[in-house]
Amino acid sequence: MSEHKALRGRPTARLNWRDGEPFSTQFQDGYFSRQGGAQESQHVFFHGNRLPLRWATSERFTVVETGFGTGLNLLTTWTEWRKAGRPCRLHYLSIEGYPLRPADLATALSAWPELRQEADTLIQQYPPPLPGLHRLLLDEGQLCLDLLLGPLEEAIETLCTLPDLLVDAWYLDGFAPSRNPEMWTEHLFQTMASISAQDATVATYSAAGVVRRGLTAAGFDVSRAPGYGNKREMLTARLQQVPASAPLQATPWQLPAHRFSHAAQGKLTSHGHPGRIAVVGAGLAGAATAEALARRGHDVTVYEANEVASAASGNSQGALYTRISHQASPLSLFALLSFCFASRRYRGLLQQGCLADGELCGLLQMQTAVEKDDPLRDTLASLPDLVREVSASDAASLTGLPQCAGGLFFPGSGWMHPGTVCDTLLQHPRITLRCHTGKLSLHQQEQGWRLLGSDGELVGEAATVIVACGIATAALCNIDWLELQAIRGQTTEIPSTGALASLATVICHDGYLPPARLGAHCIGATFDLEDAGSEVRPVDHVRNIQQLAKALPELESALPGTETAANLVGHASHRCASRDYLPVVGPVPDAARFCEDYATLRRNARKPILCAGAYVPGLYINTAHGARGLTSTPLSAELLAAQVCGDTWPLPAKLAEALAPGRFLIRDLMRGQR
Ligand code: SAM
Repeated sequence: MSEHKALRGRPTARLNWRDGEPFSTQFQDGYFSRQGGAQESQHVFFHGNRLPLRWATSERFTVVETGFGTGLNLLTTWTEWRKAGRPCRLHYLSIEGYPLRPADLATALSAWPELRQEADTLIQQYPPPLPGLHRLLLDEGQLCLDLLLGPLEEAIETLCTLPDLLVDAWYLDGFAPSRNPEMWTEHLFQTMASISAQDATVATYSAAGVVRRGLTAAGFDVSRAPGYGNKREMLTARLQQVPASAPLQATPWQLPAHRFSHAAQGKLTSHGHPGRIAVVGAGLAGAATAEALARRGHDVTVYEANEVASAASGNSQGALYTRISHQASPLSLFALLSFCFASRRYRGLLQQGCLADGELCGLLQMQTAVEKDDPLRDTLASLPDLVREVSASDAASLTGLPQCAGGLFFPGSGWMHPGTVCDTLLQHPRITLRCHTGKLSLHQQEQGWRLLGSDGELVGEAATVIVACGIATAALCNIDWLELQAIRGQTTEIPSTGALASLATVICHDGYLPPARLGAHCIGATFDLEDAGSEVRPVDHVRNIQQLAKALPELESALPGTETAANLVGHASHRCASRDYLPVVGPVPDAARFCEDYATLRRNARKPILCAGAYVPGLYINTAHGARGLTSTPLSAELLAAQVCGDTWPLPAKLAEALAPGRFLIRDLMRGQR
């Protein structure tokens, strides 16, 4: 029996349309009224929470909505925030159990021509119904939309495990309590109180007794207010007193003790200020981390031993690769959520004209047909916009290669020039780039860090250092317990001739083949453990070509002959992978204290130890992205920047735990190996 749940897309909303208004056949209730729906949203939620006033005095402001529906409340809030001159960083988290299909979303939002610009952006970035948290960066990331897809009960659990989430304003917008009682539960009201900021407010169109009593019992001071249009009343509320948090159930090893006010209270209170920030490494991981921090208003210096994207990010083309499994393991969930995030991120940059070297042209993963009784079938059927199985003839018309085999097609995937992605991200005005520093070493001071060059000269100083140096990360951080493996990989550039010239999508077999860039396709890559050589080898060009010819025999005549291998161009480097093949992202534990604090786990792996983790102050890691850096680095960087800055994490604690460097220590302790 598997320990993981089955992975299924969420059921989408069942609608019919009444005079252009979406109506839920499941809940027998409407989403909005075309007569004044946008004004109602503004009246109830926006003014009910006194938003424009409160934004003016906030640096960042968090809204949580129950029931995303068509996104109308988001759009009205977004336009008002824009009109107010984007006065603060706005975090809008919305829960939705039955997301609208993209076409329905577009139809519903076409009712509001005045919200057209925002609606178009939302539609372009709208995620597939994969359960979990989807972060959308809107308006250069100053508006962060987290769509939490799943039933409210599960969403509440997730909210409770999102460190640093403190809600300033609540929009309660389930269907009418009589038709949709699951959206108005006591558990919701109690949880609201426990994750609210001081003076948090609530607004809802419903004046039902169950809502009034529930909010009051949870500690809110509830008032009736005039409703919109012909609705007599609505409710607003304000938190009276922040309640004590429920005691922790699990060992909070991944929460840094210095940011944790009261270990028994499970709350991170202080918003961290990272001070001066250094990122070491200007590959995909370093560049994405620097941008995510700069976007949050911090000055970042990036130090690079050589040049931007010169190591594992140095291939001329990389595929946006992911895998789908029928199981919801941390590995498969992260693979898909990070893929969705990366795809949105690149789409946004391409559309804004910031990124010009790559395309989201789709990716075919060649494979034999999924068997009738394979549980993956149900998973695929539930996520048709994310991935679909295609026959050989469909694959041929998608890829442009007549003899192509069938497989799984990911329409949101494609290829990028990793170097251009890095350059684009590093262009942020708050980032200073310092290349050719040579090999650096880190020295901890009483306050922060000194970065020294190979002759001991001072290269830089910082309060917070993020190390994103691939395989060199462990040595630079002076940690011997982090096992990273180096996997040599070489790519080969082959001219785009014959049948290759008509290739329209990326194809993945054991290797990968993207459409042409500047008249050549970057293919590969080889995969060799325990091979320290970083020179480009003709013999590896031959291996890449033979592997491709074997997977796609129709291309054989278009491929370079082995005798020309010595003249081909390629790139060789070492990808860095962890023991469990997940990236390593997060703060660096102080191993000795960490193991002492959690020593009991050696005897009883299940015993909760209510003590936050001991971490090396100001030291973080972002590495081990293997061959999937284009896919995994954007979300990893977002997570790391949130951890550094005390922002709400883009992943629930369980998934962040699966990436945290400390996981290796915890596992070793639990197995009695440390
Ligand atoms: N705020 C939305 C808008 O601006 O269009 C309207 C929300 S609509 C009134 C209520 C939403 O709650 C629907 O989208 C529905 O799918 C969602 N919902 C209903 N029951 C749910 C549940 N148990 N868990 C999560 N979402 C649920």
